[in-house]
Amino acid sequence: MAAAVITLYPTVTPPSYHRIVSPTLKIPADTQRPIPVGLLACQRDPLLRELETSIISCTISQPASFPSVKKGKKASATAPADQPTLEIILHDTVIFPEGGGQPSDTGIIKTADGRTWTVTQAKRHGGHAVHYVWADQTEDGLASLTPGTNVIVALGELDFDRRYDHMSMHTSQHLLSAVLENRLNIHTLSWSLTAAPAPCYVELARSMTTEEILAMQSEANKFVFEGRKVHVEVQEMDDKPQPAVPVLESGRAVGKGVPTDYTGGIMRTVIIDGVDRSPCCGTHLPTLHNLQLFIIPQTESLSRSATTSARLYFLAGPRLITYLTSTHSQLTAAATTLSCGTPQVPDRIGQVVDERKRAEKRVDDLEFELAKHVARDVWQEMMPSESVLFVKHVHRTDDSVNPLGFLSAITTAFANIIPAERSFLLIFSSSPSSQTSSSASVLLVFGSDEKDVKPAGDLLKGKLNVKGGGKGTRWSGKFIGVWREGREDAVVSEVLTAIST
Ligand SMILES: [Zn+2]
Repeated sequence: MAAAVITLYPTVTPPSYHRIVSPTLKIPADTQRPIPVGLLACQRDPLLRELETSIISCTISQPASFPSVKKGKKASATAPADQPTLEIILHDTVIFPEGGGQPSDTGIIKTADGRTWTVTQAKRHGGHAVHYVWADQTEDGLASLTPGTNVIVALGELDFDRRYDHMSMHTSQHLLSAVLENRLNIHTLSWSLTAAPAPCYVELARSMTTEEILAMQSEANKFVFEGRKVHVEVQEMDDKPQPAVPVLESGRAVGKGVPTDYTGGIMRTVIIDGVDRSPCCGTHLPTLHNLQLFIIPQTESLSRSATTSARLYFLAGPRLITYLTSTHSQLTAAATTLSCGTPQVPDRIGQVVDERKRAEKRVDDLEFELAKHVARDVWQEMMPSESVLFVKHVHRTDDSVNPLGFLSAITTAFANIIPAERSFLLIFSSSPSSQTSSSASVLLVFGSDEKDVKPAGDLLKGKLNVKGGGKGTRWSGKFIGVWREGREDAVVSEVLTAIST
């Protein structure tokens, strides 16, 4: 499995990937100055895993600027309250600071003293990438990570796998959005690079039919099979106003524009050869090669106050393989449970659901019939009785999900056969076949006169700690614990005796 994923990786970024198109723009060589976001090593060479660089600054993170923690994002692990976080600016970095919808990388910084510092995330502050590092002892961290010190900044194996997944999904999103825009004139309002392995999605102004989705998938994959090249053009941001960025109701800037808080002075455009040009600060693969796109063939409609939009979910690269593997495992597990081959699973599930419906109907019919029999048995016993008030307790063992429903059916059947002038007070109880101290047994009191029913319920509450209540001639309650013949049954008999005398 791992080997299959590794073969997907192109190993080297071609020199033509990163192109500086304005003659005055230079990558700062002065190691006393940080390279601005837009020209970072992770953006110039997205396949680079390690870089020797130097520290520009290292400060203790102030609570106000502490990185925001979003749920479910691996990169945003929270430091324990007593563990200080350091904010480090390096001359250059292979760790991508979050931007363009792409989450921050995780990584490591290695110092000359042989220590490895974990970078939990990097954020863009104005034009600079700030690395957040956990330090055991603040003083200790500040001593090892002093400005001017040479360090190695790197993506570990897992950090790189995570980044590779982000690049695969991000480049695929550009391709998908471009195809939707060019072929169907559907604009992408926003997109979400969800935490792996969930599918990512683009949010669109309208929903799409399955035929449209399949056509767009084929269209996008044509470019993938051709192995279209991807490259980046950078230039200085001129004084001309930048194209307005569409803004969602949430206030979030979306689409093809430059974030309003971006002050890096670098304009970066990601180009998929012959397909798309989009301003973006993210890291992108140098080619669409092996980036086969799979789109979940249905849109999910979203309704918000005045607008309606739809989400289209997609997968590519290693995430697609993970998705196929887990989907296949789920299908195989379902086939094993159903004792059939995987292609037969949908039909077999249909059959099982039909059989289940028929079985439920039969259980209902049989319960109805049985309720009449139980009611008739009670009436047979009551008929010759000369008591002014006939009392009787019937206990049942029943593993039904709704045992009270069955007891209620018995009382209804009984009410249908009993002559109006006869007086009675019946208590039905029902326990599951296997009981523990937390098992629930249900009780139903049914009488000809409500003046007997409520006192019987009150006595059950007091003597058996039953929780319950009722109205008119019916009272129901629940008993928690093990119902025993010689114990709880005896108490019910006492209750009936107390009411009848
Ligand atoms: Zn982008």
